[in-house]
Amino acid sequence: MTRTPIIAGNWKMFKTVSEATAFVNEIKGGAEVAGVESVVCAPYTCLPALVEAVKGTSIKVGAQNMHWEENGAFTGEISGLMLQDLGVHYVIIGHSERRAYYAETDETVNKKVHAAFKYGVTPIVCVGEKLEEREAGQTKDVCKVQTEAAFAGLSAELAKQVVVAYEPIWAIGTGKSSTAADAQDVIGYIRSLIAALYDSSVADAVRIQYGGSVKPNNVTEYMGEQDIDGALVGGASLEPASYIALVQGA
Ligand code: PEP
Repeated sequence: MTRTPIIAGNWKMFKTVSEATAFVNEIKGGAEVAGVESVVCAPYTCLPALVEAVKGTSIKVGAQNMHWEENGAFTGEISGLMLQDLGVHYVIIGHSERRAYYAETDETVNKKVHAAFKYGVTPIVCVGEKLEEREAGQTKDVCKVQTEAAFAGLSAELAKQVVVAYEPIWAIGTGKSSTAADAQDVIGYIRSLIAALYDSSVADAVRIQYGGSVKPNNVTEYMGEQDIDGALVGGASLEPASYIALVQGA
């Protein structure tokens, strides 16, 4: 099974609309590499302009969160229907910052995954352990609980389309990245969990990214591992030249 590698930039709470459109104009061409999918996950305010800016390119646009309900009294929230209406392709779900600061749970992650598919938006589901969990030897246990919860109730057809991002929390924004071999070990394990939940054809189809201080100078190392299908990148996705180098390095 050949999986298309996917590089996704997570801009977090950075960039105004004019900065975002200028970014896309700069990465056109350079970040369009045959056989690699390139996604920018931007703040909600930038999404309409970005969907417009990427027209005619192979670059895709993602959101960084969504609510599981279609609409309702949820002040400040954005639904899958609203993302679909904008033409957004991907949505990050369960990023560790959302789990830590906005009370995201395994249950809400699962509800959001189902809702994303309902509205034709592909979820990028983040899983990963805290430093103390790693030190206690619990990395795989944590990833098991989070992965199984995220996939709960999904058909095999939908499960195949999920993108998982394995992001050890201690590596996010710290400059301390997992070694490629360690990332491969956990990502191979996550793939085996998906095979146990479904079968090997589903496990072989799911793309699993590594995330955590990925930079242009280490992306190729991760991509050399058999189960690593790309990267979810925060800091190094914010500058056009660096983003282009990440996509080209994949
Ligand atoms: C992230 O925000 O998902 C991330 C991996 O950030 P960084 O690349 O900056 O570690």
